[in-house]
Amino acid sequence: MSSTDTVIEVMGLRKSFGSVVAVDGLSFTVERGAIVGLLGANGAGKTTTVRMMLGLIRPQSGSVTVLGEPIRFGAKVLSRVGSFVEGPGFIPHLSGRHNLELYWRAGGRHAGPADVDEALAVAGLDDVAGRPVKTYSHGMKQRLGFAQALLGKPELLVLDEPVNGLDPQQIVFVREALLRLASEGTTILLSSHLLWEVEQTCSKVVVVDHGRLVKSGTVAEVTGSATSAYIEADDPSLAFETLRHVPGIASVAHAPPGIAVQLGTASRCDLVAALVAAGIGVETVMPRHNLESAFLEMVAPTEGEPAWPEDLPATLVPAEPVPAGPAEPAVSPVPAEPAVPVPARVREGAGR
Ligand code: ATP
Repeated sequence: MSSTDTVIEVMGLRKSFGSVVAVDGLSFTVERGAIVGLLGANGAGKTTTVRMMLGLIRPQSGSVTVLGEPIRFGAKVLSRVGSFVEGPGFIPHLSGRHNLELYWRAGGRHAGPADVDEALAVAGLDDVAGRPVKTYSHGMKQRLGFAQALLGKPELLVLDEPVNGLDPQQIVFVREALLRLASEGTTILLSSHLLWEVEQTCSKVVVVDHGRLVKSGTVAEVTGSATSAYIEADDPSLAFETLRHVPGIASVAHAPPGIAVQLGTASRCDLVAALVAAGIGVETVMPRHNLESAFLEMVAPTEGEPAWPEDLPATLVPAEPVPAGPAEPAVSPVPAEPAVPVPARVREGAGR
């Protein structure tokens, strides 16, 4: 049974189109106030999942419960959910504001001017709200869809690829709006294939591949960043030997030009302290994984198929600079040399 803090409960969801299994026994939960990223490559089953969550298509088996109520087409609870799926259509010769008012009335609800104005302001469209939609750029239309989802201050926002096609400035704008809404208590589920975006915005990630759950948890849990470290030092050999003897380390491996450490009970601070105490200059310390490398490790290529479709560079290139780090170890799950487990007696030994 779901707790009162569980806003979305997806259980054993399955949907196929002919011989294509789009969603294959997917289960996950979303807690109140979280921003959860449904992450997967093109064709992983994200949009199909979102559509089932909104009662737009019927699952073959499994169930979705939103705010404690089971979802079916037209379920009453959907009036408490704002959504944005596959670029909403607007009437081109009407203004953005008029479109929102019509949309809201069509659902049998009345939005006061203040509600519409607020949604337009959150989406950053107050200046152009009176202009016909046909004069809007792609990004403005996308943000009008976002404003539409915000009407009526929904408790839950379900957004399918909300920043697709936006320029970097607009992506930052939408991201900040989402973070603000979440801090005010709105629960948000967004689907995306933009790893960098999910890493920047979401508190939790649900990774799907071929319609199945691959992994879920906080970004740190999914990437293993809380339990790993990558270190570059001015004397790599001495640093390697020193790190092997730090208590609370699970393993140490060469990852040229640095060293990869799997942490046990030790923290990254403990590693730095040990290196500095040994007179070694520390140049870089960072989590070993980011979401991109973790994702590529998790999503195994199907036989005869590349791990990613051809648009890999375009979809994975971060919108903002990533901290400088080693290109190779960051994407390679295989260290240059096998990890060296630290002997138990060393791990238990005192001193650094
Ligand atoms: P993208 O990131 O490209 O939007 P996605 O993760 O949202 O992908 P879905 O759109 O859910 O993926 O599609 C999952 C699979 O189901 C794909 O193989 C897709 O071709 C197939 N599919 C989705 N909708 C239909 C449909 N109406 N008819 C037939 N096949 C479909």
